[in-house]
Amino acid sequence: MNSEFNIIQQYFNWQPCSDSVAVGIGDDAAVLNFTHRQNQQLVISVDTLIEGVHFPENTPAKAIGHKVLAVNLSDLAAMGAEPAWFTLALSLPESNLEWLNDFSVGLKKLADQYNILLIGGDTTRGNLSLTLQVMGFVETGKALLRSGAKPNDKIYVTGTLGDAAIGLAMLQNRLDASSYTQKASEFCQKALNYPQPQNHLSQIIKYYATACLDISDGLLQDLGHILNASKVGAQLDLSLIPLSKSALELGRNQALPYALSGGDDYQLLFTIPPEKEQQLQNALKDNHDLKISCIGKINNNKGKITDYLGHRINPAGYQHF
Ligand code: ADP
Ligand code: MG
Repeated sequence: MNSEFNIIQQYFNWQPCSDSVAVGIGDDAAVLNFTHRQNQQLVISVDTLIEGVHFPENTPAKAIGHKVLAVNLSDLAAMGAEPAWFTLALSLPESNLEWLNDFSVGLKKLADQYNILLIGGDTTRGNLSLTLQVMGFVETGKALLRSGAKPNDKIYVTGTLGDAAIGLAMLQNRLDASSYTQKASEFCQKALNYPQPQNHLSQIIKYYATACLDISDGLLQDLGHILNASKVGAQLDLSLIPLSKSALELGRNQALPYALSGGDDYQLLFTIPPEKEQQLQNALKDNHDLKISCIGKINNNKGKITDYLGHRINPAGYQHF
């Protein structure tokens, strides 16, 4: 019988073997140990993904399992926090065992990769919706906030931008298939379905950055959050926005709006004082797969984003696809 209890037992009762979990899945609540986390603060974030809103219908279950954890890990990365535990509240229209199996495989693979432990959750029947809460730790007072950017700080992003938004546009036939190759299509689909949270980079960046967030709603909109919280402005050099080879198949001008205003990047946007740039580059030099790009700098032009020539860049102007 596929009761709620059997589902939990079969697909989610991973029984984490860690001293940090005194009581895990199976009782009314989890009991956690963290006295060894001296001089650290607990960091908590929760995100919900709803079918048709946060991921298209027909998204593979494995991808959903990956993505729901990835977007939450990305919030911990944005804070400079190290992942520790998570809970999962699942609402499912039916108990489809193949779906549950694929979902839990996608979830567990990423959980194991980042050493984050599932300690509880809730399972109910309803429209497909997933709520995941992550918990992590950061050294006391060292959390990376949105509010710390200062004039003259350099603005950096990790990875490449716009790939997931291009993947979504391809999926929804909003892009002409003749303008890209199969390889580019697969790359952008993968960026959409399997975003890679930047937790490793965040553990290096946190020693140098003055402000940080993860880009989930498009570079310009999310940069706006840092500008508002820090009461500063930004000047961007649009020619420096990092685009993947796959995105560039569309041509730089056509790809750029996806990078500026497309969603689902889950890359980090951070600011760093110029005198620390070299130190950060040195810290990264043995990690060639960790890519960062300087795209501009912070100024006193409160809340405004301008391009290299000083022309105002209006985020809404790019929401046309
Ligand atoms: P309650 O009646 O207190 O809501 P449940 O029957 O919902 O308890 O859950 C039983 C146990 O299984 C709890 O430890 C709960 O945290 C865990 N659990 C329920 N659903 C999930 C899930 N989707 N993933 C992980 N743990 C779950
Ligand atoms: Mg319950």
